[in-house]
Amino acid sequence: MRYRSTRGHAPLVSADQALRAGVAPDGGLYLPQTLPQFEPNAFAEDQDLGALAGRLLRPFFADSALADSLPGICASAFDFPLPLVTPDPAEPGLQVLELFHGPTGAFKDFGARFLFRAFDAIANPDNPITVLAATSGDTGGAVGCAAEGARHARAVILFPKGRISAFQERQLCCWRDPVTALRVNDDFDACQRLVKTAFADKALSARHGLSSANSISIGRLLPQMAYWAQASLEIFARTGTRPGLVVPTGNLGNGFAALLARACGLPIGPVVLATNANATLSDWHASGQYTARQSIATLANAMDVGAPSNFERLSGFGADLVEDVVRVDDAAIRQRIVSTHAASGYIACPHTATALEAYARMAPARRAERVWIAAATAHPCKFADAVEPLIGQRLTPPPSLAEVLQRPVRLTDIAARLDELAAQLEPGRAG
Ligand SMILES: *Cc1c(COP(=O)(O)O)cnc(C)c1O
Repeated sequence: MRYRSTRGHAPLVSADQALRAGVAPDGGLYLPQTLPQFEPNAFAEDQDLGALAGRLLRPFFADSALADSLPGICASAFDFPLPLVTPDPAEPGLQVLELFHGPTGAFKDFGARFLFRAFDAIANPDNPITVLAATSGDTGGAVGCAAEGARHARAVILFPKGRISAFQERQLCCWRDPVTALRVNDDFDACQRLVKTAFADKALSARHGLSSANSISIGRLLPQMAYWAQASLEIFARTGTRPGLVVPTGNLGNGFAALLARACGLPIGPVVLATNANATLSDWHASGQYTARQSIATLANAMDVGAPSNFERLSGFGADLVEDVVRVDDAAIRQRIVSTHAASGYIACPHTATALEAYARMAPARRAERVWIAAATAHPCKFADAVEPLIGQRLTPPPSLAEVLQRPVRLTDIAARLDELAAQLEPGRAG
């Protein structure tokens, strides 16, 4: 399998080259040149998500340096539960796919765990990989957690001082080697600029094998197909009808993975995207015109995106596969958390609530045509400040999130300057 750039002015590359590079040299994003086609019964023998992912991803990594290690990477990356639950027994046509049972409590664990294991498999002492990640939320924690214990690839996480929650900071600063957490005395944009400056410094970049783990990496998108595949196969086997998907998304990572799985022949019906108040995607779907804008802050803050970076992939691929985009503002998110809890006791995080609200707004006849699967992308505990007052109840963190608070904190303060970052990248300085 070869990968092409969305802009069409870069050489074709193998999967491992696309992973290492992150962005194509012409500034575009990598897409597989062809898509494999699967029959639903192709997965009949796969006993668990790891095995299913190994089979689904095999053609995407054929002829790459990762071909042999792929099954092991999938088995160890996807070793946590993936429940498909019925939140309200009175409404069995709505299933919720809980993507938050990984170690950091958000769906970013799927992409980050796969990507880091892949990096560790392609790196070696002569050719190291340093993942630089500027983060203001879930990605950094998932990357740090995924990197712990890696042998050849390491993670350096930059986050803005005083701009993230106390829990988020703990979740970025609690990981052991080879993870370094750098608290930057500036805002998130400054962190991102610093990372870009480091990538642009050819000597520095080559010396440390700088690479990225942000959501434009094809190495995060591809593994995210696996959970959509597993859930849709299960519903198709049960009902004989392709389920519809309701996907909370901002940067289109989760949404694009669903569309890609559908395009590979998995039994997936209509795909509906749910967003927060950021209107870029809903306006595009309504008008056919794409206009990036400034992002606005919402309760579902992991989806606060005004210029979805994966849009470039969507437009070159089959934007017509998006059946609908439903925009859900904060008031509707709050109401949906309250009404879901009142009806069934189910507790949704704000991101999950956008999907539940999008489902609730569908016409009853459309809902009745098939089972709909809504993704739950974060454990509600991660958003306890928003959720607890709405449901009038304290939330108990799952063991993996509680453990974060027991771990020692390791961080280094730096200014948003390249020389300070470069010094931290030298061996012996990390940690
Ligand atoms: C990142 C994230 C999303 C959105 O992911 P996209 O890549 O924008 O689709 C949704 N919910 C949570 C909790 C997230 O962390």
